Amino acid sequence: MKKNDSFELEITDLSDDGAGIGRREGYVWFVKDTVPGDYVEAAVTKEKKNYGFARLVRVITPSPDRTDPACPIARQCGGCQLQAMNYAAQLRFKERKVLGNLRRIGGFEIGEDKTGQDKTGGTASAVTVEPVIGMEHPFRYRNKAQYPIGKNKDGRIIAGFYAGRTHSIIACTDCLLGCTENRSVLECIIGWMTEYGIEPYEEENGRGMVRHVLIRKGNASGQIMVCLVINAKKLPGAEALTEKLLLLNETFRKAGEPAVQITSISYNINQEATNVILGRELVNLYGPGYIEDSIRRLCVDPEDGSFTPAAEPPVRFRISPLAFYQVNPGQMERLYSTALEYAGLTGRETVWDVYCGIGTISLFLARHAKKVYGVEVIPQAIDNARENAIRNGFENVEFFVGKAEEVLPAWYEKTGENRREKIDVVVVDPPRKGCDEKCLETIVKLAPERIVYVSCDSATLARDLRFLCQNGYALRKVRACDMFGQTVHVETVCLLSKLKVDHHIEIELRMDELDLTSAESKATYDEIKSYVLEKYGLKVSQLYIAQVKRKCGIIERKNYNVSKKEDAKVPQCPPEKEAAIMDALKHFQMI
Ligand code: SAH
Repeated sequence: MKKNDSFELEITDLSDDGAGIGRREGYVWFVKDTVPGDYVEAAVTKEKKNYGFARLVRVITPSPDRTDPACPIARQCGGCQLQAMNYAAQLRFKERKVLGNLRRIGGFEIGEDKTGQDKTGGTASAVTVEPVIGMEHPFRYRNKAQYPIGKNKDGRIIAGFYAGRTHSIIACTDCLLGCTENRSVLECIIGWMTEYGIEPYEEENGRGMVRHVLIRKGNASGQIMVCLVINAKKLPGAEALTEKLLLLNETFRKAGEPAVQITSISYNINQEATNVILGRELVNLYGPGYIEDSIRRLCVDPEDGSFTPAAEPPVRFRISPLAFYQVNPGQMERLYSTALEYAGLTGRETVWDVYCGIGTISLFLARHAKKVYGVEVIPQAIDNARENAIRNGFENVEFFVGKAEEVLPAWYEKTGENRREKIDVVVVDPPRKGCDEKCLETIVKLAPERIVYVSCDSATLARDLRFLCQNGYALRKVRACDMFGQTVHVETVCLLSKLKVDHHIEIELRMDELDLTSAESKATYDEIKSYVLEKYGLKVSQLYIAQVKRKCGIIERKNYNVSKKEDAKVPQCPPEKEAAIMDALKHFQMI
């Protein structure tokens, strides 16, 4: 077929990036904007040897899962790959995506019944897939928006979105995923730019001033942060801008939401020729330089996985423009509550929160742990984390700035062989690229009982889980959480637990289960110790007695020192003491 030739096709599947898939005479077609179950007319855009791409011309028979996109520019924008699919079908797609990656990349065998076997480490163990956590209202959920600023064909300043995979901006000040105040803020900024002759940044030649507008809203506090990303050291007309933006607070108040207020205005300097949105430097124009939000803990119903608020005060957070903060506050509470439940804390545990951001998960855990350590690469986020800890009254948290793959190994070395602090739980929540292998290796060395892995990319998640499961851990639970409705992205939380077999064999035998000869139960460790001390003047440890007993074929609780890995490190009973212990065992008629 030639480019633009059209043909009919039944869509039967969806690729991970949300394109419909149809098969025709053994050849695979990817058709964007289609839904499994659609029968469509498509036109060729590109052909490869075994597969090709086509665009949707018209839907001949719609899928039962098809719905009308709520956003008029959904197809052009490309940000919401799944808007044409009803929400229940979106959730099914996301769960399938996670499980597919766990199978293909992770090597986990998870059946259609959502139970499975983790065989990656050679040890079969049961995996439970818990029901996907969906949203009640899958629109208007985002607390953060980053709008590029540019000009349209007529030379008018516009804010909007890059058209899918391009750098041309489609005008749109009211993305349906974002909050309703974004529009007023953007229109105010465009009005100010027009009035003061301030030009949008031009990517092609590096001229112009305003690159992006970042807007963040604290869901619980109603506080709004506005941050302009500019291509200069100073922002001309900054005072006027601040004044104009603050006037909006009147309209927000009138709209019947007294709590909704712009409380922070700043600009960020980014003079690099890059598509990274934010630069490093921030200049504050109004307010304290951060907004606040709070997160409640929810209880997870063990029967159906549903959530109800827990009877404890929410954790309050300060968020600076540069720090990462989850974009979906409602789902964030559910995600973190699930992570907390998986962590299985009783108040006695020492926990590492790796990739901790502003300490959201760390502080969420802190109330239920003895000690929480956090590590994060962005210094401002750690500043926030430390302030947040103080404000919430947590004294059992400590934060480190740096790369997890450097800070964690250094901490492990520094705590030293003998002083090594036992880590009970490690929580990781890395960016899309997943964990650095050095970081994973150190986690394995820390040997926590449980690892809770929170991931926004199920492909790198599957890769990292495979590594952990090949190094002494077993995957126990998997739960997908929809943080990003209408898009193909999905968050996942997983629980892994340490396998016992590799480290030590725990066999607890009750005395009455043992076929003891009368002599075997005769002497306690203390009696043997006293006998050896009195007769030989030697001090012997319980460990040495256990070693000698085992040599003599006396069954022991096996968790003293039979670890394969640790054998080398465990001190072995010297011959002189061994002879003395043997004598004691004979004396007590145990051998
Ligand atoms: N747990 C936090 C943040 C998760 S996002 C929350 O839920 O809010 C991932 C975080 O990892 C970001 O804050 C990012 O700045 C940080 N990060 C990225 N690479 C890192 C690295 N190599 N070492 C430590 N932190 C890193």
